[in-house]
Amino acid sequence: MRYISTRGEAPALGFEDVLLTGLATDGGLYVPESLPHFTLEEIRSWRGLSYSELAFNVMHPFVDDAVPADDFRKMLDETYSVFSHKAVAPLVQLDTNEWVMELFRGPTLAFKDFALQLLGRLLDYVLEKRKQHVVIMGATSGDTGSAAIEGCRRCEHVDIFILHPYQRVSEVQRRQMTTVRGENIHNIAVRGNFDDCQRMVKESFGNQSFLGGKTQLAAVNSINWARIMAQIVYYFHASLALGGPDRSMAFSVPTGNFGDIFAGYLAKKMGLPISQLVIATNRNDILHRFMSGNKYEQHQLEHTLSPSMDIMVSSNFERLLFDLHGRDGLAVKTLLENAAKGPVSIEDYRWKHARKLFDSDAVDDKATCDTIREIYQQNEYLLDPHTAIGVRAARNCRRDQAVPMITLGTAHPAKFPDAVAESGVSVKPPLPAHMADLFEREERYTVLDNNIAGVQEFIAKHWKNA
Ligand SMILES: *Cc1c(COP(=O)(O)O)cnc(C)c1O
Repeated sequence: MRYISTRGEAPALGFEDVLLTGLATDGGLYVPESLPHFTLEEIRSWRGLSYSELAFNVMHPFVDDAVPADDFRKMLDETYSVFSHKAVAPLVQLDTNEWVMELFRGPTLAFKDFALQLLGRLLDYVLEKRKQHVVIMGATSGDTGSAAIEGCRRCEHVDIFILHPYQRVSEVQRRQMTTVRGENIHNIAVRGNFDDCQRMVKESFGNQSFLGGKTQLAAVNSINWARIMAQIVYYFHASLALGGPDRSMAFSVPTGNFGDIFAGYLAKKMGLPISQLVIATNRNDILHRFMSGNKYEQHQLEHTLSPSMDIMVSSNFERLLFDLHGRDGLAVKTLLENAAKGPVSIEDYRWKHARKLFDSDAVDDKATCDTIREIYQQNEYLLDPHTAIGVRAARNCRRDQAVPMITLGTAHPAKFPDAVAESGVSVKPPLPAHMADLFEREERYTVLDNNIAGVQEFIAKHWKNA
């Protein structure tokens, strides 16, 4: 399988290189040159498979000979055995033909574990084969950092440095990062805000000379193709559990960087009958505004009760724009260069095509709380604020009651106790057993000034073979 850049100018790469690369050299994102396609008969034959067996069937065409079949099966068995539910991604029924797929049974209680648990293992496998080492450098305001750290904690060939804004992440989120043991895990609290952290990461990727040529940086944010790939699987899993592929499904997806919902779009292109995909955003609604009025325009960042969806631009949206433009990389490049300067639109027929593929909705904090409260009153089931946005959007956008509507449950409510309290539900969601002692565990992190030279010096000094 070859991968090409959405901006048309970077060289095509194989899976291993795509795994180790962040952005393409032309500033684009990598996508598969062509997608595997499965027939209904093939998909039907996957009924009754375990999650990891299904994951093998869906993902092996993308990975190809980078990981031989037997090794890949073993890796997937390990990856999904760390989840705390036998079904890995269990479905919970909310109402007639309405479901939540719980994607928060992994080590850090958010859906990002599905991809990052695999990504850590894939990286280590490929690096072992190539006798190489990488430094993962990332900035986090919440879920990505902890999922990446958990995913890489056992990697022999990876050191991971995660920057978070000092005293500006929630205590649960900080502790999920700073209490993980491992010589290769380095938490840096920067005396600055999230944007400062992100800027340092971006600049470091642009100029890696501080590493002295002895190792290289690797990215774990959702521009990494392997993350998208791992997220395709659970769309097949949900469909098969509810009578697919002989009936179609609808999915509602709480969306920030457009990674998770893009995976659903790919599942559909790969042959899974999906009749509706709902983009559910919070007040940071650039995608909803684009879908409603064909205007792609950055607004100020708003802080909401669903912080993991607080974004100004959606990086993975570029991957959809590439398809909407008939895979014309230069058209995408021009469009996104213009989008950095001001609002942009696309040709009407392309936009109409996008509207056929997706519905969308934006849900504010009040409606988020109302939904948490309503579902609790109806079912004694607690939603986290991100999932609540998905459920609300699903209900607002629903087209056909006969089609099962599945909202992706992206986080465990115990990660966001403040939103639950604000919704007026008086029960406090307990942390699952494997995390019950989170507040007693010892933390380890280094506080550094908001200064890139100091951060780079710290990294250069503390990776494994430094
Ligand atoms: C990351 C995240 C999202 C957004 O996912 P994208 O793939 O960026 O659209 C939604 N909910 C939670 C809980 C998350 O951690």
